[in-house]
Amino acid sequence: MSKRKLGIMTGSGTTKQPRHWSLGLLGSMEDPESIVKKTERIVVIRDKYPKAKIHYLVLPYEDINSIYKLTEKHTSLLEEFGKLYEELKEKHKESNLRAGFHAVPSMQRLHMHVISTDMISPCLKTKVHWNSFTTRFFIPYQDVLKGIKEDGGIKKISNELHKSLMSTELICNQCNFKPKNMPQLKEHLLTHVK
Ligand code: AMP
Ligand code: ZN
Repeated sequence: MSKRKLGIMTGSGTTKQPRHWSLGLLGSMEDPESIVKKTERIVVIRDKYPKAKIHYLVLPYEDINSIYKLTEKHTSLLEEFGKLYEELKEKHKESNLRAGFHAVPSMQRLHMHVISTDMISPCLKTKVHWNSFTTRFFIPYQDVLKGIKEDGGIKKISNELHKSLMSTELICNQCNFKPKNMPQLKEHLLTHVK
């Protein structure tokens, strides 16, 4: 079994329990090194493998697994997500920040990405990374809020759409340049830095 499947060793006291990798955010939510801001209901942490110069995750303490568990009753919680997004934009006035959720998250516990559009980071390596933030796979915060308010929830995307979004041809998120591969895209992104 891979190291990733075995998970990290974590827990409290002397008996450390293995925790599946997909639960890793739960540890970071309690880690003072990761935490940027806490309220009664929500915590903002730094993404451990940032895919841009600025990359935060906003998570509720309530045990909500993903956007697909959200209903109208979570409206005020989601509105507070928006407030924290506004605060982060205020803190990083020099950057262009977007907020949204992956249509098919890999990690458990609902989490909203707040990420800068530069997409400059050594952790951004694959086409899947790129397409997960630059295609419709990234569902904007406002769409999720609207979905729960107006439709009472969010509909899952089909496997076909998931596959096609992940295999979308590379295209720069700041101009029409179509790079041949990820190294060329990463080099190109540097040309957009002011
Ligand atoms: P996703 O589930 O695809 O929406 O994204 C999960 C995000 O969590 C990715 O951006 C990862 O870089 C990030 N991540 C993975 N493990 C951790 C961790 N232990 N602490 C903080 N961020 C993490
Ligand atoms: Zn470009």
